[in-house]
Amino acid sequence: MNWKSNKLTELKDQYIDQLSAIYSTSESRKLFFVLTEYFFGIDQIHLALEPDKRISESEMLVLHKAVKELLNHKPIQYVTGVASFFDMNLKVNESVLIPRPETEELVQLILQKEKKNHPAIIDIGTGSGCIALAIKKNMTEARVTAVDISIEALNVVRQNMQTLQEDIELLQMDILSPASYTGLSVFDVVVSNPPYVTQSDKEKMQKNVLDYEPAQALFVDDDQPLIYYEAIVQFCQKHLISNGRIYFEINEQKGSEVVRLMKENDYKKVMLHNDMHGKERFATAVKS
Ligand code: GLN
Repeated sequence: MNWKSNKLTELKDQYIDQLSAIYSTSESRKLFFVLTEYFFGIDQIHLALEPDKRISESEMLVLHKAVKELLNHKPIQYVTGVASFFDMNLKVNESVLIPRPETEELVQLILQKEKKNHPAIIDIGTGSGCIALAIKKNMTEARVTAVDISIEALNVVRQNMQTLQEDIELLQMDILSPASYTGLSVFDVVVSNPPYVTQSDKEKMQKNVLDYEPAQALFVDDDQPLIYYEAIVQFCQKHLISNGRIYFEINEQKGSEVVRLMKENDYKKVMLHNDMHGKERFATAVKS
């Protein structure tokens, strides 16, 4: 590094300029301040009020490393290790997906429909635990179980549980292998945002997702795009009560196929719901 100055306002201009090679100027500015706020507790207003603010040599190194990661397309949430979801700050790392805003809408839908029911809920493929924790936090009477195939992901959930002081049950299981869940109890509600991105969708995806987010949490083969939904329906035969509800996040191009799957399995009130972008992103159904 050969920065002439350790003055944060000057570093700001230099780093925003560098980041602008791959992000828009406004995005670059936003990213810079996410870093200063996270690492030094200094936001944009703070810096405007204290334009002569200087940082130490070690702080400069931290900032430099973080900007370098951003320039390598690493998502900001993995750089800081924090993602915000439903008013919570969640720990994330490269073994879990970064929670998406669409998934907040799924939680909203569940809260609207289930809040009065005090249900036992299972979140299948919980990742960071975002859905399960948001439900538990906003529906304190619910009994929430979160499962994932990945031990690393469950470790992330455990840390999030501790930070947020929320009590949910965690279990490792593989939804594709019924032997891994025979001992589980029966639930009132099943929710899942399973992998649903097909190999052909993959070609349209951005480098920051492809290079950093866990493929295991994202992708399905083109010839079995509903493999996880089918497995969950099978799980529900024994582990969802009759009149129990299913809430799915889905691939926007597979709405009618998911509807067909649910109807073929005698589910009632099968419905698709749009996300904020007007895409068919959620499917809900009630077991007969
Ligand atoms: N919606 C996520 C994405 O676009 C995919 C989530 C998933 O596969 N469940 O990257």
